[in-house]
Formats: sequence, C-alpha cells, structure tokens
Amino acid sequence: MAAAILLVELAWVLAALPGAALVSDLGAIAVAGWSGYACVRAARRHPAPLRRFWLFLAATMGLAALGRTVWTVQRLGDDALPHSLLVGGLFTLGIGTGTAALLCCVAAPRSAVGRARTVLDGVIVGLALIPIGWVVVFRGIAEADLADPVRTFGLLYPMLDLMQLTILVAVASPTRPMWRPLAVIGASLGTRAVADAVYISLFAQGSYAPGHPIDVCWPLSYLLIGVAAHYPQPPAWDGREEATEPPLPPWWRVALPYLPVGGAIVAVVLARRPTGQTPQLVFVGMMALLGVLALRQGLAANENMWLVARLRRLAYTDQLTGLPNRLTFTRRLRRALRDEAPVAVLLLDLDGFKQVNDRFGHVTGDGILTSIAGRMERAVAGDGSIARLGGDEFAVLVDGDRKVRPEHLAERLLDALQPSPGEEEAGVHPSASIGIAEYGPQHASHTDLLRDADIAMYAAKAAGKSAYRTCTPALREAAVGRAELIADLRRAVDEEQLHLEYQPIVDLATGEVRSAEALVRWRHPRLGLLTPARFLPLAEETGLILPIDRWVIHEACRAAATWRDHCPEATVAVNIAAAHLCRPDLIATVTAATAGAGLAPRALTLELTESALIEGSDTVLDRLRQLRELGIRIAIDDFGTGYSSLSYLHRIPATELKIDRSFVTRLGEDARAYATVEMVTRLAGAFDLTVVAEGVETDGQHEAVTAIGCVHGQGWRYGRPAALADLRAALIPAARNRA
Ligand code: C2E
Ligand code: MG
Ligand code: MG
Repeated sequence: MAAAILLVELAWVLAALPGAALVSDLGAIAVAGWSGYACVRAARRHPAPLRRFWLFLAATMGLAALGRTVWTVQRLGDDALPHSLLVGGLFTLGIGTGTAALLCCVAAPRSAVGRARTVLDGVIVGLALIPIGWVVVFRGIAEADLADPVRTFGLLYPMLDLMQLTILVAVASPTRPMWRPLAVIGASLGTRAVADAVYISLFAQGSYAPGHPIDVCWPLSYLLIGVAAHYPQPPAWDGREEATEPPLPPWWRVALPYLPVGGAIVAVVLARRPTGQTPQLVFVGMMALLGVLALRQGLAANENMWLVARLRRLAYTDQLTGLPNRLTFTRRLRRALRDEAPVAVLLLDLDGFKQVNDRFGHVTGDGILTSIAGRMERAVAGDGSIARLGGDEFAVLVDGDRKVRPEHLAERLLDALQPSPGEEEAGVHPSASIGIAEYGPQHASHTDLLRDADIAMYAAKAAGKSAYRTCTPALREAAVGRAELIADLRRAVDEEQLHLEYQPIVDLATGEVRSAEALVRWRHPRLGLLTPARFLPLAEETGLILPIDRWVIHEACRAAATWRDHCPEATVAVNIAAAHLCRPDLIATVTAATAGAGLAPRALTLELTESALIEGSDTVLDRLRQLRELGIRIAIDDFGTGYSSLSYLHRIPATELKIDRSFVTRLGEDARAYATVEMVTRLAGAFDLTVVAEGVETDGQHEAVTAIGCVHGQGWRYGRPAALADLRAALIPAARNRA
C-alpha cells in the first residue's frame, strides 16, 4: 500500500500534474503514518530491550507525520514555505527520538560513556558539515539573502542527518546483531540526508517550490523504516548479555568521524579566500567543532586512563586472591637482585590441594585458596612480599635489610596454615611445603634462585610435607642428577636399555619351578646396571612408568611363550604400578600382549601392591574383575606392608597372596613374625588364595614356610633373578621330573 502511494506520488510529481504539492504532502503523511504503525507492531513482537528501539522509531515516524501535517496546513493557509518554529521543532524532535532509537538498539555501546562518545562522534561530523556546506551551497549567494536566518538554519537538517548516519555506522556492523534492519535504516537516513541537502541548496538559491520531484525522497525514507520494521527478530538475540567481548572495530571505523574534520579545515580556507574574512556562520561552526572535539578528546583521555588502570590491575595482580601475580613477583625479585641487597625467596606449594579440588569441586578449592592467601598475608605481616605464582603455588620475597630470617618466616607461615578444628573435621587440610633459597654467588639470575627454591620445596615435600627446607649445594647436586636421570629414562625404553631378569617361584611341596617373576633392570650408559629402586620412583613421578610397564608386559609374555615349549603349564608374573591400574587401557595392553605372544591369558599373573589395591576405586575393582574373567591371574604383592585392613581381602578378586620378605626374614628369630605368617597363610586359605612366601634366603626359612603351609616360595634360596636362559634351564628338570 505504502509503496503504491509512493509510486502514485512519484508519477504525479514527475508529470507535474496539478495539485502536485498537495499530493506529495498527503503521500508523505500517509507513508509516515504507515511506517509508524509498522514500528509499533514490531515493538509488540520484540522482547523488552528491543521494544524501546522500535518505540522510539515509531515516535520518530509519528513526529514526521505530525510535522508534515502542520506544514501542509500552514502552507495551505498563506505561507508558501512555512519554516515555522512549530514545524522545525517537530522535525528536530523527530531527529532526537531517531537518535535515541539508535543509541538503545542492542548493537549500541552499553555504557553511558560509550554512548556519549558515539553521540559526540556524530556531532563532530555534523558540525564539520557547516563550513563544507557553506562552501558548496552558500558561497555564491548574495550576502543580503543570507541575512535571513531561516535559510541558513535549514543547514541544520543535513547536519543532523549526518550525525545520525555517523552514529549508525559506529553502531551497526555485519558481525553484530540487527545488522539487516540497521542497514535498511541506514539507507533511509542516507535518502533523507540527500533530500535535505538538495532541498537546502535549492531553497537557498530560491528555486524550490512544493511538489518538486525531490519531495518523493522523504516518503521513500519513511517507507524504508517501515520495511526495516518487518525484519524478523534476530535469531541469536535471546535477550541476554553477549557472553564474549565484542571484536574491536577496524581502524577506519575509529578514524571515520575525523575525516570530515579535515574536509572542514579545507572548507574554511576556501571560504576565506574571496574576502580574506571568515564568514560568521563558518566561524561559529568551527568554534563549536573545536569545543566538541575538545570534549571528545577529554572523554577519550579519561577512558584511556581508566582502561590503563584496569589493564594494570589485570596484568599485575592475581584475579582470585588479589595478591600480586607471578609477573609482579619476578619484577620485584629482579629489582631486588639489581640492588645487590641480600635476597631470599620462599616458595610455597600446598600439599594435596589437587585432591581437595577433586573432592570438593573448584568453587570450594577457590574459596580455600582465597582464605589461605589471606592467612599467609597476615603471617608475612610486612616482613616480605607475598605473591601467588599460579595454581596452589605462592612465593614470598624477603629483601633489603630484612629483620627476619627466612626460616623464621617459613615457620610462621606453617603455623598460620595449621588447620582449625573445623577444617580438620571437614577434611580440608591446607598444609604446605616450603622451599627456601638465599641469593648467593651461584645464582646468575632470578631464574636460578627460583629453581633452587623449587628444589628445596620438593625436598620439603619428600621429607613428609608441612615442612620447610633450605637449598644446599648437596640438595642442588642431587636435584640436577635426578633431572638428568629423568631425561635419560625418557630415552631408555626407545633405545632398548631396559631388560628383564626372571626369578623362579618354586612349588614348596615338590621343589618344581613352574613360574617366574619378571623384574626390570636398566643398563644405564654411564651409571651401569640400575635396580628398580633407583629409577622406578622417578618413573612413577613422571608417568614414564606407563610405557615401561607396557614394555615389560609385552616382553614377559614373549619370554613366557618360549618356556611353554618345555613346560606347558609354566606361568609368568609381572609387576604393575598403581598408576597403571587406574588406566582404562590396561586391559587392552594385557590382551594385546598375550595374544601377540600366543600366550594363554591364564599363564600371566599381574602383581599389584597392597596399597595400590586399597586405594583403588570401584572402577579399579571392576577392571580387576574383567581381567579375572579373561583368565588372567592377580597377585597381591608385598602383603603386610600396607595399612592392611583384612576386610578388603574379600573385595579384591585376587588369586594369589605374596607375603612380604620382611616377615619371612624374621621367621627364625621372631615368634611374632612366625605367628603372622601362619595366620596370614590360614586367612589366605579361607579366601582361596595361593600363598607365596617372598625372600626365602636360608634353609631355616624354607623349612619354616613349608611347615606353615605356604604353597610357593620365592627367594635366593631357590634362585636369584637371572637371565632368561638360566630360568629355562631351571624349568627343564622340573618338566622332566614330571615326565
Ligand atoms: P617385588 O615385586 O616384591 O619383587 C621382589 C624383589 O625382591 C626383587 O627386587 C627381588 O630381586 C628381591 N628379592 C627376591 N628374593 C630375594 C631374597 O631372597 N632376598 C632379598 N634380599 N631380595 C630378594 P627388585 O628386582 O629390586 O625389585 C624391587 C621392586 O621393584 C619389586 O618388588 C617390584 O615392586 C618393583 N619392580 C620390579 N620390576 C618391576 C616392573 O617391571 N614394573 C613395576 N611396576 N615394578 C617393578
Ligand atoms: Mg612383585
Ligand atoms: Mg614383593
């Protein structure tokens, strides 16, 4: 309908039919009315934040219709072109509501400062138009004609149009919400700006009469607003704040408001050229422009200062605890080292914080960290500066002419972290291990000092936690050696430096060897043959135990497959680290190894230490049950050394129980050891577990374990761990005996 009205109007005006002026007035009123109605309907359709936008636009259209009506009435009266205060006021008010609409659309800046900045950018562009408009439109017009303020006042409209367009360009972008309707509104604003500019130049030259073809442009701009109102609600917009920071605008968008300022300067030069004087309007415009520029600049400077302060805060403090962060700490440390005053660093790591986090969740974990940070800050009490380096790691820097010894400070910190009775009950024990390093000639840089503190901290952890240690040369050397050994261990599997020895397990009743335990050895290129005690703890710490164990399982299965030729029922036992038990891929590894070697699963025993089994969760027990279902045998290794709770025995689907060497060793001299072995053997019998006595060295021990009724024995009395060939030799007679 509105488009049809517009087309009729266009034809009428172009054909210059009689009554063209009235037709163009009525057409504009009708289209503005229709657009206003469309905006009201859009406002009803949209959620609250978008509603305001459409209501402001509806008001704008309503004011346009009203203004045009008043204009028409006054024109039909006697005034040929009624530039009355009422008409001007209504149109200007409409521009106000249009601007308000743009500022409250979802894509506009949210902060008051951001909105003020956007408006000021628009005003700058609008004001820059004054000298430019002067040069383009008014320069050729006689001075006397310009005395009429109505003529020059008309320049205000294109200026305001341009201001609105600038705001729209700042607000709308294809990547932001409501891009399509805003683009159509932009087209509407552009159309109106062209119409206003052409109108003002025609009017200034006295060649405008109502019913001029340019008249069609205004209803066209209204029509476009009505079209924009028909776009559906943006799908991504669900009324919530955007979760991510909006992307930064491209540089040209930021520079855009300032380009017309350059144009204005050129225009001023041109305007002065004929007379050497600045026309009054241009002068006033330029002054206003300068004033607004200064305001905008002040706003930007203020905003920058605020941003810099915020960035500093973000960069130099820890967000969670409010303590200085790692960056601040290292800066302070470096400054202290430059001053060449005595410096000490305390590195503090919470004990078992990961478990607390896992058990109680991250929110509780964060709360604990914050409270600990507060406690420690009070404990340091100005004798040093504390920082959070990240995670559960804190550091204290003691520098300058310090009053307190770092060891003293460490004690104070440990005291402060003593759990309160409530925490004790809740199972939240924020104890800590502290490493101290004091600056000395061996430190080339702050990183050396921090590394030493780290070494000392690990020593404190190894010493049983909730303790502090100071870094000494011996500690440093051991740490370096350890680090080297870890690096070597990484290569050991790939470079085939590992090998297995096999220790026979004998049947105590017959003396036959039908099984052997595979024990890993490392032939280190420099250090020679290393026993598991030397490198397995490191492997467990670094996770290297997993590839090592995997290799052992495969290798042992391959070896066992070769024994089966001599002794079909022979089995092999391998040790499995606790860490491996928690891995879902254990089953896949084991089945691949047995299948690959062509070994029956029941020929493989997995030895697991008692402590690994007790700590195991239900999934671990499930995994063990699955292994049992496959036919694989499971032994509880080193029985008696863990915190044995006999009640757990029935839960574990084991087939064997290996009594620890420490009991067997004391059999001859300690009656209690004898009673223990006897009791454990009887208990194992009740649970259907085969008992293996470990570490049998002497004939006396052999007789004792045989008398008690252990089924199998393992120890130097029967054979030391040895190469595969030796074990085969031990197996053959047994097989022959049977034959
Ligand atoms: P374990 O599983 O209890 O193995 C028995 C340990 O006792 C072996 O020490 C063996 O050499 C030693 N032993 C056996 N009979 C006697 C004896 O009569 N007297 C004395 N004094 N010692 C005896 P080894 O080979 O040094 O292994 C130590 C531990 O390292 C093993 O204890 C086992 O827990 C672990 N381990 C060995 N190989 C592996 C492996 O491939 N993977 C994993 N995860 N752990 C392994
Ligand atoms: Mg073992
Ligand atoms: Mg053992």
